[in-house]
Amino acid sequence: MSDEQGQRFETRAIHAGQPPDPSNGAVCTPVYFTSTYAQSAPGVHQGYDYSRVNNPTRFALEQNLAALEGAKHGVCFASGCAATAALAHWAGPGSHMVVCDDVYGGTWRMFEQVFALADRRYTFTDLTDPDAWLEKVRPETRAIWIETPTNPLLKIVDIAAIAARAKDRGLKVIVDNTFASPYLQSPFELGADVVVHSCTKYLGGHSDVVMGAVLTSDDAIAEKIRFINKSTGGVPGPMDCFLVMRGTKTLAIRMREHEANARVVAEWLARHPKVEKTIWPGLESHPQHAIARQQMRGFGGMISFVVKGGLEAASRLLSTCRIFTLAESLGGVESLIEHPAIMTHASLPAATRQALGIDDGLIRISVGIEHVDDLLADLERALAAA
Ligand SMILES: *Cc1c(COP(=O)(O)O)cnc(C)c1O
Repeated sequence: MSDEQGQRFETRAIHAGQPPDPSNGAVCTPVYFTSTYAQSAPGVHQGYDYSRVNNPTRFALEQNLAALEGAKHGVCFASGCAATAALAHWAGPGSHMVVCDDVYGGTWRMFEQVFALADRRYTFTDLTDPDAWLEKVRPETRAIWIETPTNPLLKIVDIAAIAARAKDRGLKVIVDNTFASPYLQSPFELGADVVVHSCTKYLGGHSDVVMGAVLTSDDAIAEKIRFINKSTGGVPGPMDCFLVMRGTKTLAIRMREHEANARVVAEWLARHPKVEKTIWPGLESHPQHAIARQQMRGFGGMISFVVKGGLEAASRLLSTCRIFTLAESLGGVESLIEHPAIMTHASLPAATRQALGIDDGLIRISVGIEHVDDLLADLERALAAA
């Protein structure tokens, strides 16, 4: 996990892209609240001309995120969805993508209900089998879209196996690395061409900002994505960039705590008599546990479980939790709990949810970094009420 200079992840997280300000020594990159930049003569400036195109705070964050993923280029967007949309624009009219079936609900909605109307085609398929998707490839297929771990079923897709097959066919491999974060998974080392993030989640880490990013070492893709970014204008403001930069500095220690707490909670849930099934990639019972071990440096802080008693039991449980806040989203320091069928995945048709296995008793938790005993006590109270 070290870069060309031999710096480890934790060091890069704190220093990459943000040397002390040369003009005054400020250790933290300032928030450059400016929309425009003085030019000394027409067209002569210091690299910045207008803040939709770039801004020094955003530039620092883009360098930082690129260093964390081990990519040459980083481009930040106003949200994870805006980053995803840029890649849909990049694929171009007439193009086709093979997409992981258990993909983020908003990604599914955007592809099927926005970009399908703009002459893009998508085939959603289970990518846990690294060969089954090959028969879906068409002459106009441009890329394969992987999300791993998936949401909310936490399926693990073998990135290296898929990337090897995609390379042979000239397809680009895009990985949504939001759930794992760059601390736990490095898609570029496994053969990915593009990584996309919702920085709203673990990168920001404090549930106080919405942002997205596209990372790549492919110069042609980076140029196109940057062009789309400035032309369509879905860019983040400098304050948001500052907040995400503050977030990445503690990403490593936060992920270690998320992971340690999640392990205790997952093992506890797996033994609980009111829980039918517990899904966490770190459990040996997880169907792709071996792949997770191989391609991830840890199993992350997301757990899904099925409570006995279906929708009614799930509703009682969800309204009884106190420390686990009933809310969408994930990846912040505070523990969150939610019901995918009603909340995050309501945009999927009921039949699709059923086919995927998102049933009414399924609950997803984002394990925060509170004291784990308080989390267990909260869940015990809620399960007793279920
Ligand atoms: C949240 C999320 C997104 C979308 O990001 P926003 O910042 O909410 O637009 C995309 N992919 C995954 C896996 C997510 O969790």
